[in-house]
Amino acid sequence: MGGIVVEWALCAVLLLGLGYGAYWLWVRFSWSGKHFQRTHHKAVIETGAEIRCPIHGLFPVAMGIETEHGEVCPDCYREYVRIPTYTTTEKPHA
Ligand SMILES: [Zn+2]
Repeated sequence: MGGIVVEWALCAVLLLGLGYGAYWLWVRFSWSGKHFQRTHHKAVIETGAEIRCPIHGLFPVAMGIETEHGEVCPDCYREYVRIPTYTTTEKPHA
């Protein structure tokens, strides 16, 4: 059973690697790939750029929220200020 899981995981990693390799070859060596990448870079710069959150990925600069620790993405801020919820079985002030 464990062998099957490992085999599927290795197969998935192999397919992802082949997919990324095909994408890299396309972007690096083909005219259309270079055109795609340059157009994407141009769009990122012209639309005000994006910031990469390590948890939630890219988000527009205009959506960034300033905190005392720096700028965070909207999803991180939403999780940061989330009011704690209690289940029906536990009471906050027993
Ligand atoms: Zn985030």
